[in-house]
Amino acid sequence: MLVDVTVIGGGAAGLSAALLTSKNGLVTHVFDTGDAGVSKAILDNYLGIMKIEGPDFIDLSRDQVQSHGTILHQGEEVLEVVPEDGEYRVVTSEGEYISKYIVIATGHNREIAKNLGCEINEDGCIQVDSVNKTNFENVYAAGWCVHWKINQAIIAAGEGAEIGIDILSNEKGANFRDHLHLIPPE
Ligand SMILES: Cc1cc2nc3c(=O)[nH]c(=O)nc-3n(C[C@H](O)[C@H](O)[C@H](O)COP(=O)(O)OP(=O)(O)OC[C@H]3O[C@@H](n4cnc5c(N)ncnc54)[C@H](O)[C@@H]3O)c2cc1C
Repeated sequence: MLVDVTVIGGGAAGLSAALLTSKNGLVTHVFDTGDAGVSKAILDNYLGIMKIEGPDFIDLSRDQVQSHGTILHQGEEVLEVVPEDGEYRVVTSEGEYISKYIVIATGHNREIAKNLGCEINEDGCIQVDSVNKTNFENVYAAGWCVHWKINQAIIAAGEGAEIGIDILSNEKGANFRDHLHLIPPE
């Protein structure tokens, strides 16, 4: 199956990337084995939300991305990502997919990135640039898997969003903005 964006990991980072790419017309699949870090938290430090239990936050986030067309493969593990003819073959516990973009958002599990050959830094995390690109073309990483010292849900979500915007800027033209105006511009 051909996919525009494959997101590996359905925590705050991965779902945030998927929200933007699916909302703006890219075929986006999220694979998630569950147990995201935030599902063990009571979030009271996420801007705009007074307080929410982690499992409710994840349920809401899943509903939101699915309402925009994200295909969520809950419980399906990604086993391997292999470069193939300028794209990537994604091998999962249930099948295979060909994807243009890969977003690695696997939390404390960095094996997929290591096996692909992503650069790993001295902290044992995936090395990324200022827009969360790895050393592989069209492969990004965000959230806990890129740093263990900073571990906040809103930061993971922000990095995921940045990736979504960078992918959309590549696809649709520079400086893509996902803005919905309250007062329509004249
Ligand atoms: C007990 C606890 C309390 C916390 N409290 C707070 C808090 O109050 N406020 C706050 O801001 N942050 C809190 N955090 C931190 C917050 O949870 C993390 O910053 C956030 O979860 C990071 O999101 P992530 O998307 O990077 O990774 P994760 O949430 O870890 O998500 C990664 C996902 O990837 C999936 N995955 C991994 N490998 C694969 C694979 N090969 N195939 C498919 N899926 C895969 C995992 O199953 C997981 O669902 C807390 C964390 C914990 C553990």
